[in-house]
Parts: sequence; structure tokens; C-alpha cells
Amino acid sequence: DHKATIIDGKAIAQIIRSEIASEVQDLSKKCGKVPGLAVVIVGNRKDSQSYVSMKRKACAEVGIKSFDLDLPEDVSQDEVISKVHELNANPEVHGILVQLPLPKHINEEKVLTEISIDKDVDGFHPLNIGKLAMKGRDPLFLPCTPKGCLELLSRSGVSIKGKKAVVVGRSNIVGLPVALLLLKEDATVTIVHSRTPDPEHIIREADIIIAAAGQPMMIKGSWIKPGAAVIDVGTNAVDDSSRKSGYRLVGDVDFHEGCKVAGCITPVPGGVGPLTVAMLLKNTLDGAKRVISQTTDD
Ligand code: NDP
Repeated sequence: DHKATIIDGKAIAQIIRSEIASEVQDLSKKCGKVPGLAVVIVGNRKDSQSYVSMKRKACAEVGIKSFDLDLPEDVSQDEVISKVHELNANPEVHGILVQLPLPKHINEEKVLTEISIDKDVDGFHPLNIGKLAMKGRDPLFLPCTPKGCLELLSRSGVSIKGKKAVVVGRSNIVGLPVALLLLKEDATVTIVHSRTPDPEHIIREADIIIAAAGQPMMIKGSWIKPGAAVIDVGTNAVDDSSRKSGYRLVGDVDFHEGCKVAGCITPVPGGVGPLTVAMLLKNTLDGAKRVISQTTDD
């Protein structure tokens, strides 16, 4: 019985975080400067609060200074934008992250566009996404989850050039940017979405599958080409009465079946999730290094 290699995202993220911690230390020894990340949260959504506290804790662990902005649910759009402008102007802040989703009365696009592109550590500014889409242009930052997917592939020894890759999902934050990134790395890329007929036949052609549909265990073992690399971004809560919480997390891929067919596969949880946070720290460090090297060049 074939058994896929399970890609241990938690362990890979831990290695990356210790690499970052030692670079942060070097930077502060050489230049006396510490990378800074501003994490802005509006309102009190439970899920957003837990993501934000995870990100702030991860900063502290590697020595990145975090600037915490907790704004009330009823804050005005103008006020959020003026906070972003303050952070743009603050030389101690090298990265700005606005936790999404924002409350309904605030236009997300308007807010994200105000973030200075050289502090856009989430990589969601339209200019950074545009540069990602264009040949021969380099965005200042890559979005964290897509970048994490590619990091998992490269650290698992999976090459991308010339491979057939299928991305399931086309959202602005995962599906689309991961497809653009695979294209930049010379894969032949197909995007499957909710209007795609016969997704299983298209997915079965793929050497590399990136699943980001948010549909619990949609991809069955029979949809996977034997030996394919499977990166499962999906994080879906399903009812489970045997758990104290009443639910458990599953991916977009049927993991049990996938293990019998794939060459390598990420688990959920413990696959892509830890990489998303690690890439945020990496982007913040890289942003800080860029600014610091510019000021020492002068
Ligand atoms: P969205 O809901 O914004 O997008 C889902 C995409 O999947 C859409 O493009 C949609 O198509 C497509 N889709 C939905 N149903 C199907 C289907 N049956 N067949 C094919 N395509 C389908 O989700 P996100 O991109 O924000 O997130 C996707 C998943 O990844 C979620 O489970 C989320 O929790 C998880 N996630 C995990 C992260 C991590 O760090 N591990 C980070 C971010 C997200 P259409 O465009 O036609 O509607």
C-alpha cells in the first residue's frame, strides 16, 4: 500500500522562524535596528482576534517589535485610513497588516490601497498584485499564504518548472496569487473554480495541486494523479461530537484517501497554516532589511 510523504508544515515553519530570529539578532547587532510590524484589528470577531494574537505572539518570539492597534467596531473609515497614514510615516514600522474582514461600513479596497507599498507585508496592495501578474516585474512583497505554499514545495524537493499545476479557487488572497506565483515559476497553470465543469478530470492531470476552495474534503483520492504533490490550503470546521469543542478542522482534500495516492501531501491542521505566519515574519524582516540597507547606502 502506497503511503505519501506527509509534509510537516509545523516543523518547516519552526525552522524558518529560527532562521528569522537569528537574522533579526544580526541586524540589531550590526545596525542597532529592530524590524517592526503593525497589526491593525477593527472590532471583536473571535476568529480575527485569535489570528491577530497568534501573529503578535509570533513577532515577539523572533524579536520583531509589534505595534498593536485595536480599533472599535464603529470606527469610521476615515479614521482607519488616518491610522494607516500614521503607520506609513512611522520609521520604526516596516510592515503594516490590516486584519480582514473589516466591518461592512468600511471599504476594504480603499483601506488596503492606502498602505504604503513598501510596507505592504500582506502583499494585497493592487500594485503588488499587479506586479506579480506582469512578466519581468517584481512585487515588493508576495502574499503570505501563496508564498508559504511555494516554500512547502521547495523545502519538500518538489520542482515547479514545466510541471502541470492546478489551483482550486480564485480568491484575491489565495487562489489567484498562488496561480500567478506558479506561473512566474514556469509551471503550466490551470485554475478551477465554482463554475468549472468536471473539476475532477482537470485536477487529475496535475503534478501539483493547490486546493483553496473552502470545501471540506471535496477532492477525493481518485481525483489525484498518483505521485502528485498536494498542498491543501482549505481550513474547514466540520461538526464532530467526539470533540470537546464540537468540531474539527479538515482540508479541501480527503486526507486519508490522498495519503494513498499522492507523492506528498500537507495535513490540515499543521500544513499551510503555520507557513502563513512564518511568511508574514519573513516579509517584515525583508521589508526592514530593504529600508535599512537603503539608509546605510546613502
Ligand atoms: P473564498 O471563499 O474567498 O474563495 C473560494 C474559492 O474557491 C472561490 O474562487 C470559489 O469559486 C472556489 N470554489 C468554491 N467552491 C468550489 C467548488 N465546489 N469547486 C471549485 N471551486 C470552488 O476562500 P479563500 O480563498 O479565502 O480561502 C479558501 C480556503 O483556504 C478556506 O478554507 C480558508 O479557510 C482557507 N485559508 C487558509 C489559510 C491558511 O493560512 N491556511 C489562509 C487563507 C485561507 P468562485 O470564485 O467561482 O466563487
